[in-house]
Amino acid sequence: MERRVNARPRLIVIGGDAAGMSAASQARRLRDSAELEILALERGPHTSYSACGIPYLVGKTVSSPEALISRDPATFRRDFEIDVRTGTEVEGIDLDRRTVTARPAGGRAVEESFDQLMIATGAVPVRPGLPGMDAPGVFGVQTLSDGIAVREFVDSRRPRTAVVVGGGYIGLEMAEAFVQRGMEVRLIEAATEPMTTLDPDMGRLVRDALTGMGVRVHLSEPVTGVETAPGGGAVRAVATEEASYPADIVVLGLGVRPGSDLARAAGIEIGPTGGIAVDARMRTSAEGVWAAGDCVQSLHRVSHAPVSIALGTHANKQGRVAGTNIGGGYARFGGVLGTAISKVCDLEVARTGLNEAEARRAGFEFETATLESTTRAGYFPGAAAMTLKMLAERRSRRLLGAQIVGWENAGKRIDVLATALWNSMSVEDVAAMDLGYAPPFSPVWDPVLITARKLAEQM
Ligand SMILES: Cc1cc2nc3c(=O)[nH]c(=O)nc-3n(C[C@H](O)[C@H](O)[C@H](O)COP(=O)(O)OP(=O)(O)OC[C@H]3O[C@@H](n4cnc5c(N)ncnc54)[C@H](O)[C@@H]3O)c2cc1C
Repeated sequence: MERRVNARPRLIVIGGDAAGMSAASQARRLRDSAELEILALERGPHTSYSACGIPYLVGKTVSSPEALISRDPATFRRDFEIDVRTGTEVEGIDLDRRTVTARPAGGRAVEESFDQLMIATGAVPVRPGLPGMDAPGVFGVQTLSDGIAVREFVDSRRPRTAVVVGGGYIGLEMAEAFVQRGMEVRLIEAATEPMTTLDPDMGRLVRDALTGMGVRVHLSEPVTGVETAPGGGAVRAVATEEASYPADIVVLGLGVRPGSDLARAAGIEIGPTGGIAVDARMRTSAEGVWAAGDCVQSLHRVSHAPVSIALGTHANKQGRVAGTNIGGGYARFGGVLGTAISKVCDLEVARTGLNEAEARRAGFEFETATLESTTRAGYFPGAAAMTLKMLAERRSRRLLGAQIVGWENAGKRIDVLATALWNSMSVEDVAAMDLGYAPPFSPVWDPVLITARKLAEQM
């Protein structure tokens, strides 16, 4: 196997999306190409793409895949002097020889040596080993290439019935995309309610809204397989323990696990969540080896437990922290709250911090308060329903988490609550905050203030 000797210190980045290219660009801002050579190796054809935009590409809110790419390989080469090799899979890491084995698609494996290594291999989608899961017409939606494949299938085959397996936020967003494309949509979920990152009482609101939009929701129904046309043909239906549902297209949104296999095989420490163990500077257990994004585990700021939560917000920030440190600067990642927001048609769903099950697991004694309110002053045109739920620790009265389900303009209130959580505020503090008000934006007492007050009074 060819082995190349480096003239300058060399950083190799594995994975060319959010975390990897944030790290590479930030390292380049601090070290020019005479000081640091940077090589990024990416298995797929794209760099720095927004996986978050895939549902909107499929639903045609976004017109073309190019719109989802913030920097392509040519831009990285030209503007950042970063050598990007797409279509190149890293097959192994040798920490003693400080090399990676990289194989270009259909080509010979090459050993590339590094002084510093950045692992940003993302997450691996959960794919149950059930019959028919690889049939034509069954898709995952993890990479931009997956998104393009779904869009092309819908454009060319014009499917009439869609089944989304998994009721998490990606499942919800894909259900919206298929509704927008005029299909009959079913959502199948093994849990008792969709959106299991929310408490079931809040998940029920999501279920009711989905049903109101015409999506058929099947709960507590584990999928048992995909039925295909005779002779291994295209998907025909999705089977559950209860029934069989017709499907011209199936999308799997069953969650992900950290993509830490390469690191594990190299002997790098893996944490209890299955993510690569990193410190606040994004250093792994191996000297000069860094990791960030969906492949790592992070510290939860409320529970202080290690968690692996696959979100682009975390990946970009962690990548930048790693890049700053690789470039000789100093940066620390402050931990995560798992703040997330998504929408299905006009329904907005958001959460931050701990839900009831998570708070219980973390050993907190807590109270909850739930408020039904409106997104604007009740008399103002467009005022719509929203429900806000908060959790607080009994003794300290510290806010532990919040969830929002509501119509247009409800969801982004989660950022106020994430700010409160980030600063360990009590519910009394939250109830006293000076928030903006005018009738088009909120009732005079914003639902955030009233829910916090209600919770404080309850305790
Ligand atoms: C449909 C969808 C919608 C989403 N919506 C949101 C949202 O609204 N908000 C939000 O915060 N997050 C969202 N996310 C999550 C977000 O996209 C991810 O958290 C983020 O992309 C993680 O970045 P990353 O760089 O860690 O991993 P990735 O973006 O997965 O990048 C990892 C890269 O590594 C490459 N790779 C892996 N192994 C190898 C190897 N051995 N050799 C070479 N290359 C390799 C992969 O091809 C991939 O390109 C969404 C994700 C999906 C799929």
